[in-house]
Amino acid sequence: MSDYKNPGIDDVIREAKQYIHNPESLALLEKAANYASEHHAGQFRRSGEPYIIHLTNVAYILATMRCGPVTIAAGFLHDVIEDCGVTHDQLAADFSEEIAELVEAVTKIGTLEYKGKDDPEYQAANHRKIFIAMAKDIRVILIKLVDRLHNMRTLQYQSEKSQKRIAAETLDIYAPIAHRLGISSIKNELEDLSFYYLNREEYYHIAKLVETKKTERDEAVKKMIEDISAMLEANHIEFRIFGRSKHLYSIYRKMATKHKRFDEILDLLAIRIITKTELNCYEILGYIHAAYRPIPGRLKDYIAVPKTNMYQSIHTTIIGNDSKIFEVQIRTEEMDQVAERGIAAHWRYKEGTQYDAKTEQKEIEDKLSWFKNFAVYTEDESNTASASEYMATLQHDVFEANVYVMTPMGRVIDLPNGATPIDFAYRIHTDVGHTAVGAIVNNAMVPLNTALHTGDVVQIKTMKGTGPSEDWLKFVKTNQARNKIKNYLQKKETEKRQERVGEGERILHDELRRRGFDAKEYMEKKKIESVCREFHVSNYTELMYGIAVKSINPTSVCEKLTNQKKSVSEDEALSRVLNKEAPRRNSKLGLIIPGIESMRMSIAHCCLPVYGDDIIGFITKNDGVKVHRTDCPNIQNSKSRIIHVEWDEGEKERLYDSRIIVLARDRSFLLTDIVTVVSQCKVAMESVSATVNHESLTATIKLSVRLHDREQLENMLANVRKVESVISVERKAY
Ligand code: MN
Repeated sequence: MSDYKNPGIDDVIREAKQYIHNPESLALLEKAANYASEHHAGQFRRSGEPYIIHLTNVAYILATMRCGPVTIAAGFLHDVIEDCGVTHDQLAADFSEEIAELVEAVTKIGTLEYKGKDDPEYQAANHRKIFIAMAKDIRVILIKLVDRLHNMRTLQYQSEKSQKRIAAETLDIYAPIAHRLGISSIKNELEDLSFYYLNREEYYHIAKLVETKKTERDEAVKKMIEDISAMLEANHIEFRIFGRSKHLYSIYRKMATKHKRFDEILDLLAIRIITKTELNCYEILGYIHAAYRPIPGRLKDYIAVPKTNMYQSIHTTIIGNDSKIFEVQIRTEEMDQVAERGIAAHWRYKEGTQYDAKTEQKEIEDKLSWFKNFAVYTEDESNTASASEYMATLQHDVFEANVYVMTPMGRVIDLPNGATPIDFAYRIHTDVGHTAVGAIVNNAMVPLNTALHTGDVVQIKTMKGTGPSEDWLKFVKTNQARNKIKNYLQKKETEKRQERVGEGERILHDELRRRGFDAKEYMEKKKIESVCREFHVSNYTELMYGIAVKSINPTSVCEKLTNQKKSVSEDEALSRVLNKEAPRRNSKLGLIIPGIESMRMSIAHCCLPVYGDDIIGFITKNDGVKVHRTDCPNIQNSKSRIIHVEWDEGEKERLYDSRIIVLARDRSFLLTDIVTVVSQCKVAMESVSATVNHESLTATIKLSVRLHDREQLENMLANVRKVESVISVERKAY
């Protein structure tokens, strides 16, 4: 494209000397230049030129941007880690840790692989975020932008395929970052170069349109400049004025996105006025509006309300001579610097004696926090959201809420802060998550709960046949991973249950056969379900499960199934005597007999069931129904006179008696310890007695207690078991 002479190392130094005077700083630049020359010696670019030319160009552009000596030195050195095998430590020893870190960050960003818009996973916004988040330092971004600028200027030596890929990446990633940082000179050049390689036909078309109107336009602009100059001089205002042309890509974009014809693009005729003070800007605006008719709605005051990238200027559109339309930009020198160089203008190197390491560090931090706030490019260029709101969102979005990590293939995955390799695995694919057994982060094996950081390259080791662990739920950060793990575990649980049901079926089947019954006949689902209620389960599956986990005795089921006729008739006989109505509760005991009212009931003294125990009623001759635990030995042989009873769920306040027997090796304070534990469990103590067997040196302690329910009881038993020297703890039934 443009012919342009490569600067030499001398040119870099000469450019730098315009603002860097410290001999040490200048020596650093020479040293970096020589170091790069030596290390890249024998390396060539595709153009056939020695590699050092690229580095000199990068350093030179950085110097024209008024970057500091460290940044320029890093510009010279930016490829030595990647292309010359120099290590971070070596570079730190030869120069400084600061330079080594800059070069390493530039190198690391280079590993980001651009997949292009065709990749469905690709998101330009994410790529830009990871780019910036990885850089961490504005100087790294500047070097990277300038590196890309020079590569774009020399893109003609690449294959057509590479040209297209690199140009697309530049347009998607680099130009928006340059824009976000306000570096319009770099942004415009990157856009036009990309445009040229991506759509040469359109590029030439627009270039030609611009060219044909050039003479006419140039004349109109020249006349306008003369008129305005005369007016401002008459009013004694200091100013510089010049015409400017829009870059081709911005014309193309306006034509394409706003569907405008070439001659409809208003600001093709454009004039910029640079003046001394902010006040001068408004004065000039006043004179121009007084002399020419402004187009309504086109006045924009970016001085009062700067753009988010710090851009400041006044824009107005007026109808000039011969009814030609002009866009006029008015701003101060300082604003112009910011407009052209953006963040680089702020970053501009200042030499001074009052500088010390501490204040410099602080300034860098201030600038970095400022930079972070501008780290994201938003599509919305309008300035509607308040600045603080905007910053708060960005801060949260980029630097707090998210980490950006990569697959070994360079795909960028964004995850919430604190996310782990498991979250990453589930984002890749559900199966990867389910079968994850290990994680490799930046080539090192790490635990699966390691928090990931931006820039990490993450690889998941999987193994077929494994599954997620319940522990993962404790550390995963994404809902996606959490839900997938839960679903998996639930499914597994159902499968396991299914297995248990089959197991229960086999046990019951065998039991029936053993007793000489026709298993097939009795195993019928309908028959089984008719006895479910007796075992406090609601259906076939639950009953079989109960048998498998031994909470239901298969012998009892067998008996119920085969004796069913008999017991039903007894129940029926009983029901005839008693009122047959809605379930009634015996509120005094917290018990109900479904379907039966006003039945005298009491708790059996032998086994003392408490609320929540599996219970059964035994119809006595003179004393109503006695409620036993189903495993009470006293009712094991009573097949008839048994009636189904239930706890009344409405009765929670009642206390039940229970008896406990503790066997322990005798020791001092044993009794005290046990009593303490029982009272810590909030169980009321009725009586305690202890006997010691002097031969076995054991103590037997009998406790009578009152408590609410089985849960409380189990809890107490578990705690008593933990008391030192306790051998066994049992509920007593006799
Ligand atoms: Mn490079």
